Amino acid sequence: MDIEKLKLKTKASVESQKQQLIQLSLNIHDNPELAFEEEKASAWLTSYFVDSGFHVERGIAGLATAFRATYGDESPRIALLAEYDALPKIGHGCGHNIIGVSAAGAAVASKATIDQLGGSIVVIGSPGEEGLGGKIDIVKAGAFREIDVAMLVHPNTKNMPTEEALVCSTLDVEFFGRPAHAAGHPEKGINALDAMILAFTAINSLRQHIRGDARIHGIITDGGEAPNIVPAHSAAVFLVRALDYDYLSELKDKVLNCFTGASVATGAKLGHKWRDRIYAPMKNNMTLAGLFRQNLESLGRHVEAFDPHFGLGSTDMGNVSQVVPSIHATIAIAPTEALIHTPEFAAAAASQAGHQGLLDAAKAMAMTVIDILQPEVIDKIRQEFHSG
Ligand SMILES: [Zn+2]
Ligand SMILES: [Zn+2]
Repeated sequence: MDIEKLKLKTKASVESQKQQLIQLSLNIHDNPELAFEEEKASAWLTSYFVDSGFHVERGIAGLATAFRATYGDESPRIALLAEYDALPKIGHGCGHNIIGVSAAGAAVASKATIDQLGGSIVVIGSPGEEGLGGKIDIVKAGAFREIDVAMLVHPNTKNMPTEEALVCSTLDVEFFGRPAHAAGHPEKGINALDAMILAFTAINSLRQHIRGDARIHGIITDGGEAPNIVPAHSAAVFLVRALDYDYLSELKDKVLNCFTGASVATGAKLGHKWRDRIYAPMKNNMTLAGLFRQNLESLGRHVEAFDPHFGLGSTDMGNVSQVVPSIHATIAIAPTEALIHTPEFAAAAASQAGHQGLLDAAKAMAMTVIDILQPEVIDKIRQEFHSG
């Protein structure tokens, strides 16, 4: 069978799963679970793979809600990355229900391809993309050692074959002051909240003089107990992001200086910890991106090149892309004003346009699997990865 016939068959296979995929997506959407708590989503996705004849391993890399679902046992091994975690209060405002289910649809539709062309499909269920970086643990556990290529499609407001990402480091910070009656004996107190506010102000000043593509942002998670007690403790979480590791390291020092300065000024003691999981930059494989682009265009979608002014975030797919040729593509499910991480985008992730995005992402990935399994193509993808 030639490639085009196989692509028609694989698209038809996605269509034949349409009702189940949409239902699965809506179930995950209607039951939003935070990072590393995705028990239902992980259970629903893995049972879909078991029912579809995949070999399923749950709890890989020491993460209870991670999984691996495999079909085929030959090389090349193509990984499709599933995400399924949600955001606090906003639910699926990042549309990860569509990422998880489009990977499932593409994988199941690729069974005929694997039967015919060899190779394997490996769906990596990667929890906690929002802030906890599940893929970082999965990479460290060696789950990508046997993998040749990896793909992920993220819903957004544009169709793009690649997306860049910032390096991102997380800082947990606390100030320890001394409590006192805020009216009776304020002179006896050391105000930990004031220290935190000073640090925020210092960071706001720093922000005027950093590179345009770097980002520093945080929230206060503890600001005291009551207005009539001088706050003895305050806490915050900050994210520091930059285009490269060198500038990130420079910024991390400067951000920490803001907290140290606030500690000196108020007398509140500073405690801090940079988290171990650092989100890596995205190294997109342009050979793979070109194939995905053609396949997505063949579905009648207008595909645009990545525009950095469109907005840069961070993704733990970046860490995968450092060890395996990868793409982090996007599929349009909402108008450009519906920005991700908003309730509007959460609504889009359960809309007709969201369903269509899910199906098109699954089809484009499944068609790209067929391309990747052509021997000259996989060689070219590998060459590009090792040359840059
Ligand atoms: Zn997100
Ligand atoms: Zn996301």
